[in-house]
Amino acid sequence: MTPEPTTTKKAVEIPSVVIIKDLAKIFGLPVTRVITELMKNGVMSSMNERIDYETAAIIAEELGFSATVKESDEGEHQQTIGAELETLLSQDNPERQVVRPPVVVVMGHVDHGKTKLLDAIRQTNVVAGESGGITQHIGAYQVQKKDHLITFIDTPGHEAFTAMRSRGARVADIAILVVAADDGLKPQTKEAIKIIQQAQIPFVVAMNKIDKPEANLERVKKQLADENLLPEDWGGKVVIVPVSALSGKGIEDLLETIVLLANVEEGNRKADPARAAVGSVIEAHIDKGEGPVATVIVRSGTLKRGDFIKIGDGAGKVKALRDWQGQTIEKAVPSQPAKILGLRQAPEVGDIIRAIDADEAKQLRRRQKVRTERSDTSMVYRRKSEQDEAKSSTPVQATLNIVLRCDNLGSQEAILESLQKYEAAPVHVEVVSKGLGSITDADVLHADTAKGLLLGFHVVPTTRAVEVAKSKQVEIRTYTVIYDLLGDIRKELEGRLPVEVLETVLGHLKILAVFRKEKQSMIVGGRVLDGNITVDAKARALRD
Ligand code: GDP
Repeated sequence: MTPEPTTTKKAVEIPSVVIIKDLAKIFGLPVTRVITELMKNGVMSSMNERIDYETAAIIAEELGFSATVKESDEGEHQQTIGAELETLLSQDNPERQVVRPPVVVVMGHVDHGKTKLLDAIRQTNVVAGESGGITQHIGAYQVQKKDHLITFIDTPGHEAFTAMRSRGARVADIAILVVAADDGLKPQTKEAIKIIQQAQIPFVVAMNKIDKPEANLERVKKQLADENLLPEDWGGKVVIVPVSALSGKGIEDLLETIVLLANVEEGNRKADPARAAVGSVIEAHIDKGEGPVATVIVRSGTLKRGDFIKIGDGAGKVKALRDWQGQTIEKAVPSQPAKILGLRQAPEVGDIIRAIDADEAKQLRRRQKVRTERSDTSMVYRRKSEQDEAKSSTPVQATLNIVLRCDNLGSQEAILESLQKYEAAPVHVEVVSKGLGSITDADVLHADTAKGLLLGFHVVPTTRAVEVAKSKQVEIRTYTVIYDLLGDIRKELEGRLPVEVLETVLGHLKILAVFRKEKQSMIVGGRVLDGNITVDAKARALRD
């Protein structure tokens, strides 16, 4: 058998970001085939997850395609989320609209002081509220300058902003471009300028580190002018505020400038607090204690505790809300960042969140269930045979059984939630038993009969459990970090991937005579109809 058919690879166009089930359609292959290929490359994903072009291109290559990036698609994708958001926002009642606070994002080159600046701003002008709250890093915070509230996105750097923007979520109203006065414009500064200009949002330059002796303001102004950003005092429009994030000098000026800028643009920031909430996810993760959590910034409407919500592709209910100071709040108003607790799965940065009514929530949940069931049935491999190339995969649906013990419901839910992403994987994960508290001898027996893994999270086995485990030769694995546990499961899954047999037809031979026939072998003679028959090639005899 030759290792690779030398025929030209089929060309496919793949968008810069693609949902796995869509990628399968592009390849014309079952989604499980794509997921398997990803798994082989160490990428664990469900069919509804997005992967980037680079990842997709690697497996495209391995599946026999030659991939190129589909140019227009990023724009299309942006438009879908952007358009959805616009449609939702257009449902505001104009008579009830009020101006919402500006949302500000900080960008600039690494080490130019973005984090320090965000810290300095947070410290100087904290909203006077109930004190005692511990500042929580939830991805955003709010400060007050005179009568004005300002929301700051607390994840410096381009990643968060670009992630949101690439998904069409226009979250920020104003940008601060941080430039270190001693270092000047750097590659990431220029990149940030480009992003800000593309997003068409007003910005102010915070010329940072002016306390340093090497600070050279004129040089930076010249560099900005070279980028077509003419400073105000040079007759241009770009506002530059010299600051020191270290000493706090200039921070008040910076905030005042933002307020001024915000006032000019306030017509673009109308929201209707009386309607159902609409917002964007700016941060999301699975918290060890709290399970899936997401920080959202409300764009319009008021998000309340107890609201049913659609968040990304999922639905849920707001079990609790917290502000950035860790205080429990009952509601979040426009431009207010809030952390949502009690979600069933962590959404993605840039996802839209909106409050829905109970009926819609029920419908969404039903649809989700159907989706899950469908993806289950699609797991059985389809047999595909072609004239030139016959690929056959073992039609197995192997199962990895798990007995799980956790310390609390939050961590249990977080783990179960994470396991859902293996729903469409060729190897099925089945939690055959779960519980809270110490690992018992019953768990060991359960794991033994199910031939499964016995996993404990933040729990220990009882003495009896250890004894039984020894005699039954069952391994008890305990973890204190969720990612370690998930990583081990992943390894187990990879080890259970069905083996795939790839057959490449080298040629056909018509048998004209059988010279000798034995139990296990025969010697035949014939004529080659097409291709080549080589020494050591395997053969299959077809009658008629
Ligand atoms: P980021 O990568 O842009 O977030 O930069 P950081 O906020 O982490 O700052 C990088 C380094 O510059 C840190 O060591 C800061 O202490 C320092 N730094 C930030 N702002 C100032 C400033 O105004 N003056 C001086 N002298 N150092 C600063």
